[in-house]
Amino acid sequence: MITLASVIDQFQDDFLSEYQNRLRPNQISALHAIKRCRTQMSPVMQVNCADCDYQTFVPHSCGHRNCPHCQHHDCQQWIERQVQRQVPADYFMNTFTLPAQLRPLAKQNPRLVYSMMFDCAWATLQSFSKNDKQLRGDPGAITVLHTH
Ligand SMILES: [Zn+2]
Repeated sequence: MITLASVIDQFQDDFLSEYQNRLRPNQISALHAIKRCRTQMSPVMQVNCADCDYQTFVPHSCGHRNCPHCQHHDCQQWIERQVQRQVPADYFMNTFTLPAQLRPLAKQNPRLVYSMMFDCAWATLQSFSKNDKQLRGDPGAITVLHTH
């Protein structure tokens, strides 16, 4: 099985030689954490069988918020919570993209800029729902921020 850690291990040097100057510290941190996650490079914990004397050492997860191994369970739980919250209505996916000209500002003030972007997106959805004769309803929304 190919793991993300093995892909990073194989291509990290080429990737960093090409893009290191453009990566933010948190992106480099994520890369290193995911590469080490549940490998021999990570710290280990001792686990014991409750029914016999068997013991073994298991590598730790990295716990990084961008690690697909570590976040898979939380992601599935989030999806299940969203499904349970659904109401009997039509659902549409709308994508709002931050204009490229505002991205440097978002890097400096992410909380403010993304909050304003969500406010604008919500106002747009409400306006369209109110003014479109086919929609005619009160919108609801589940919003997700994708930053990369
Ligand atoms: Zn991890």
